[in-house]
Amino acid sequence: MSIVIAFANQKGGVGKTTSTVSLAAALASRGVRTLVLDSDPQANATSALGVNRPADGGGLYAALVEEAPLLPSVVATETPNLAVVPTSPALAGAEVELVSVMAREFRMKRAVEALRERFDMILIDCPPSLGMLTVNALAAADEVVIPVQTEYFALEGLGHLAHTIELVKRNLNPRLTIRGVLLTMYDARTNLSREVEQEVRAHFPNTFATVIPRSVRLAEAPSHGAPIQQYDPISAGARAYEALADEFIASLGDRAPAGVVRPAVPATPEVERDDRAEVPVESVAANDPEGQF
Ligand code: ATP
Ligand code: MG
Repeated sequence: MSIVIAFANQKGGVGKTTSTVSLAAALASRGVRTLVLDSDPQANATSALGVNRPADGGGLYAALVEEAPLLPSVVATETPNLAVVPTSPALAGAEVELVSVMAREFRMKRAVEALRERFDMILIDCPPSLGMLTVNALAAADEVVIPVQTEYFALEGLGHLAHTIELVKRNLNPRLTIRGVLLTMYDARTNLSREVEQEVRAHFPNTFATVIPRSVRLAEAPSHGAPIQQYDPISAGARAYEALADEFIASLGDRAPAGVVRPAVPATPEVERDDRAEVPVESVAANDPEGQF
């Protein structure tokens, strides 16, 4: 029984991609067979996982427009148990192509359903809009996680997003549930972060207890084509996403995948060590040489 989770917020730059990739890597390290479905034409998740962007729109474009199966487009990453369906800017064309298609909201769902038996968790990174790609992702998902940047206008737009989720639930996907709001880029030194946190928790009681701190290492990791767990596993950012993975799995109760293992935790200094020498991580886009998926 797999779980499909969409990471959605039409606001840009709130931490959707960082959270998708980092939580996916943390889940994979617990033995959870994890897939990231990059449904954002910016293809940030694809790059952050060190995988090449396809020359065309990629497997998701073909799945949406031509109803092609997604499995041939699944690519293993350097992280064991973690695969991705990479995308490219050409995916943007799918928004247009789908306009005249019947039952266009269900194309992603049909493609994702066929992958469920191969993966325990499928994480969908949504673009910063409420267009056809996000609606398709919400129709395909069991749950939605809403990353929210801990800043003054944090709540702005969340009403609109909640309304869209409600519409999708009513018309397309009755079982869709909001798993939680995730506070990102939290700065413990400021009163503002604390105030925003209180306000978000008051409006959304299912906000995750785990808060993701602002972390230079998290911002650096994508340029090295590796999740934070590989780039700097003892950084505060990596540890926050590890804690989120634990909280997330615990919140699933008996729906949690069988055989989840807690990875060995490396020594954890209290402060983030931004002064460390950077370790270049070779990006690898091997098409699943070990036949994991
Ligand atoms: P978009 O809407 O454009 O897809 P997004 O919601 O996916 O953006 P990210 O790409 O994850 O957001 O993050 C936006 C920027 O902030 C990126 O440069 C990322 O590296 C950085 N960032 C994300 N999370 C953190 C964090 N906790 N601390 C510091 N920087 C962060
Ligand atoms: Mg993104």
